[in-house]
Amino acid sequence: MKDIFSRVKGTTSVFTVIGCPVKHSFSPVIHNTMALVTGRDFIYTAMEVQSDCVQGAIKGAYCLGIKGINVTVPHKVAVMDLLCDIDKKARVIGAVNTLKYTEDGYVGYNTDVIGAGYAIKNKGYEIKDKTVLLIGAGGAANACAVTACDEGCKKLIIANRTEDKAKRLAKNISAFYDCEIETVSMKDLNSVDSCELIINATTVGFGDKAGLSPIEDKSFYKAKGVEFVFDAIYTPWETQLLKDAGEQGVETLNGFSMLIYQAVAAEEIWFDEKYSKELQEELCEKLSKYFRENC
Ligand code: NAP
Repeated sequence: MKDIFSRVKGTTSVFTVIGCPVKHSFSPVIHNTMALVTGRDFIYTAMEVQSDCVQGAIKGAYCLGIKGINVTVPHKVAVMDLLCDIDKKARVIGAVNTLKYTEDGYVGYNTDVIGAGYAIKNKGYEIKDKTVLLIGAGGAANACAVTACDEGCKKLIIANRTEDKAKRLAKNISAFYDCEIETVSMKDLNSVDSCELIINATTVGFGDKAGLSPIEDKSFYKAKGVEFVFDAIYTPWETQLLKDAGEQGVETLNGFSMLIYQAVAAEEIWFDEKYSKELQEELCEKLSKYFRENC
């Protein structure tokens, strides 16, 4: 009780995530931990908003002076019509996950792009001038494709089970970035000459597909010169893809830090302040301990 009395005062701002459902959201844990670590005077909640109430919710939030909102499934596209401006990365992806209050209305951003970039960079890997094999063409893959191009990759190869979706993603990205982009069907992965970085942004390895890997051939990593594998999945903590790559001496990273760093990026936007690499890593360590013990 004492904690609540000292934590929530008349000056305390409210931030929130909206979506449907949102009960499972890890965002309140992340941002409330960040408030404690940084000492900022805010609390963060989760609010379930039905699709027919999105417009009213955004209007109401603005009138209440809510300074920042995260948006999750299924409202990431619907909110775009309700904003006064949209950042370039969010426009490329066609989805918004972060809103910032301004005098003219909310401005929309997509911090998944920044989160994926921070995650890979903080692990010490540079995407610049590398050939990236991106597996997947859904929401997470869209964000990772922009990350790869934004970070200056030499070539982006997009592989997806449904190759048409990979082609659509490639066409969309090449309208914004001057980067060599190819597509390949999942079943022809072996036709890829070489790639230094692999990003898995499919659901293969997650849920009922846990134990499966999008790359079945374990000789792939050495044959193609793979240096680093990033899997957007974080449950299970180590997917089959990461296990196989690790056994072949490749450096690996799961998606947990992307989840944390997209939240860091949202706060950097809301509070107009860069968080140091040390602070980002401290948060990641604290939260990964909590997540592995409780989730
Ligand atoms: P999504 O939009 O539904 O896309 C799913 C992707 O998985 C599509 O490319 C789909 O291919 C592919 N796929 C599904 N089943 C497959 C199968 N049996 N074989 C081969 N490919 C298959 O989902 P999403 O939102 O992008 O999420 C993708 C993954 O990223 C999820 O595991 C999610 O947990 C993770 N994620 C992580 C973060 C993070 O912060 N770390 C953020 C977002 C998402 P088709 O196009 O052929 O259907």
